[in-house]
Amino acid sequence: MNTATVDEIDGMKLADLTTIAVGGEIDEFIEVDSEKDFIDAIKCADKHFKKLLVLGGGSNLLPHDGRFKGCVVKYSRGAGKELDLVCQELRIPHLAGIPGSLGGAVVQNAGAYGAEIANYLLAAKVFDRKTAEIVELNVDKMNYEYRNSALKKSIGFLNGYSPRWIVLDAKLKEVGAEHFNVQYPRILKELDVEQNELVDYDTFRNAVLKIRSENGVLAPSQVNADDADRQSAGSFFKNPVVDRFEIENGRILLPHYAPIYEVPGSNNLVKISAAWLIQHSGISRKYSKGAGINSKHALILINPELSYYEKSGEELRELMRHIIVRVQEIYNIALEVEPIIM
Ligand SMILES: Cc1cc2nc3c(=O)[nH]c(=O)nc-3n(C[C@H](O)[C@H](O)[C@H](O)COP(=O)(O)OP(=O)(O)OC[C@H]3O[C@@H](n4cnc5c(N)ncnc54)[C@H](O)[C@@H]3O)c2cc1C
Repeated sequence: MNTATVDEIDGMKLADLTTIAVGGEIDEFIEVDSEKDFIDAIKCADKHFKKLLVLGGGSNLLPHDGRFKGCVVKYSRGAGKELDLVCQELRIPHLAGIPGSLGGAVVQNAGAYGAEIANYLLAAKVFDRKTAEIVELNVDKMNYEYRNSALKKSIGFLNGYSPRWIVLDAKLKEVGAEHFNVQYPRILKELDVEQNELVDYDTFRNAVLKIRSENGVLAPSQVNADDADRQSAGSFFKNPVVDRFEIENGRILLPHYAPIYEVPGSNNLVKISAAWLIQHSGISRKYSKGAGINSKHALILINPELSYYEKSGEELRELMRHIIVRVQEIYNIALEVEPIIM
């Protein structure tokens, strides 16, 4: 490995590297800025059976509180680039302001306001940790689903918390449009335009960022340092997708005024707002010292302790379990967790 481009930093905590600010000291932290060093660092961790965490922006992780006895590798180029910068270069307004890296978004199928990475990805260049080969995976090999992919599903099969396929770089479609057809209801409302009315890129992007700010889902770097909602991993639960029949036949116990949304292109599937379920489950937003619920958006669990607190990880897990049990008891719906629980 070319040590000139590799930094090994002692005393670094996962709490310093994750947007939820949770996690103890790390055995080994390696930052690389070349693809060769990135692959060498991954190979080295795998060869010595170390737990591996390939870190993007750390915005979709809930680490545990203790020491991370493994190797964290962070790549600054290619897949390590900030997703928001990539979206600005390619003029993709829907995904504006989603924290994290391009690689993390490819794994997670990050999305917002009616669009997701799956709509833009052509192919990803990946390092296969199983065969030690570099391969190109076309978008149809990713098995993309709502906030899920073949890559995300492979997490845990090899040592650590990263997929079998490590994204080195990704090719997205050039959008190239000057004007966009707005479909998403919240954006229509914000811009006060009719469905299918055309708006320009800057207007669209600014509307998305404004809505994100109102909903408390801006990247922590864009939020005041003293804002108690600042430290999170974004949406903590997926919006459940169910067959409408299950609501009609009473298996799912949902009152008629609860918001549900048609899933476009499906026969009878509807999406239920997980935020609404949590809001109507009688759970206090100030749950404990190290765990709470975002004051603007009930889907987001926060670490309200703005200086390092060594029990936030456990308290957030407790709150997560509490919410899952309450929603199951009241509505007979099993909530699914979105971030990677380490
Ligand atoms: C305030 C806030 C708002 C958010 N809003 C949204 C939103 O609107 N929509 C949305 O979808 N998500 C949202 N998120 C969640 C998060 O930003 C996304 O899931 C993002 O795509 C995660 O990327 P990351 O680089 O931070 O991944 P990390 O958290 O660093 O990593 C997550 C997983 O991806 C893996 N990974 C990262 N990089 C690579 C790589 N190069 N190759 C292989 N595996 C890799 C990691 O090993 C880990 O398993 C939000 C989060 C926050 C904090």
